[in-house]
Amino acid sequence: MDAPQRPKGLLDRIRDGETVICAEGYLFVFERRGYLTAGSYVPEVVLEHPELVRLQHEEFIHAGSDVVLAFTYYANREKMALVGREDDFERINKSALRMAREVADQTGTLMAGNISNTNLFMETVPNYREKIWQIFKEQLEWIREAAADYVVAETFSTLGEALLATQACKEFAKGLPCVVTLGICLMTVNGKPATNDGVEVCEALNRLADAGADVVGLNCARGPQTMLPILEEAVKNCKAPIAALPVTYHTTDEYPVFFDIKDPVSGEPLFPENLDSTQCNRKEIYNFGKRIQELGIKYVGLCCGNSAHLTRSLAESLGRKPPASRYTPDLDKHFLFGQDSKLALIGREDREKYSGLFSDSNNAIN
Ligand SMILES: [Zn+2]
Repeated sequence: MDAPQRPKGLLDRIRDGETVICAEGYLFVFERRGYLTAGSYVPEVVLEHPELVRLQHEEFIHAGSDVVLAFTYYANREKMALVGREDDFERINKSALRMAREVADQTGTLMAGNISNTNLFMETVPNYREKIWQIFKEQLEWIREAAADYVVAETFSTLGEALLATQACKEFAKGLPCVVTLGICLMTVNGKPATNDGVEVCEALNRLADAGADVVGLNCARGPQTMLPILEEAVKNCKAPIAALPVTYHTTDEYPVFFDIKDPVSGEPLFPENLDSTQCNRKEIYNFGKRIQELGIKYVGLCCGNSAHLTRSLAESLGRKPPASRYTPDLDKHFLFGQDSKLALIGREDREKYSGLFSDSNNAIN
């Protein structure tokens, strides 16, 4: 059988001014669905219920993602050991990669391999650089073997670990483009957000680009509201194409990252399992997509909190009509709000009854 024809590559698309959408947020998706534990956040579902992971890939493509991101986030040796499954380290990575490649081939989309932050980048961990290098090496070699189209290396809170990941991509995933993004940047330097090893974010992104990252930017931790100001600075001051993948929660100046968000009524922390009450709605994600376009950002996606309806809103904000747009809300056929002539009389009566409640519905009654 002939090998499937590969779609246009990531860097060609960006060079040609196209925007690439990458749906992420798999850990939170499967935690919500009851197949993954918040806390350790190890993607065991890849081994226990691969059919669900495959369906989730397909659902995100249906909703407008251009990319199937292999679900190997936190499938690293350290995390697998944390849940007593270090022996499954190779199997989980290879399974996730194979599945992502298959879905990408079936749907004509791009497939990205995924490495991420470890929790080892600390002076107090003996030989931490060597340990992390080894983790990246193993995962990247499998990513290359699986014929990924590019690599996503993400959620780094220190420039040091992000640089290590970038160097590892160059060394072990030779020839594959890499998108490298910073996650939790809680420090400030000169009044500006900075990585947790004290480097101002734009400076850090430029250093990642210098080290060979093809696309650099931010993912996770911040929602649209607190990520956008940093992105605005980044497009002005960074030389490489910018990536923007916020969480879909209401982060604010008071709570700039989602770990901090507190319930406005009880004052209790909402991370991780009660963040639903601060979920961004579709309109907010749509508006985020519009702003991303205005800024000229060409690599965009949604991280924790993402689900298909939000990815569709993002895609539609870019003028796309993914297959899921066939089912985009159409209130013209709604019994209260619609004007479709086929609506039953009882619907019209209801609308008259409730018309005072809906300012827009008055002209729909006639
Ligand atoms: Zn995230």
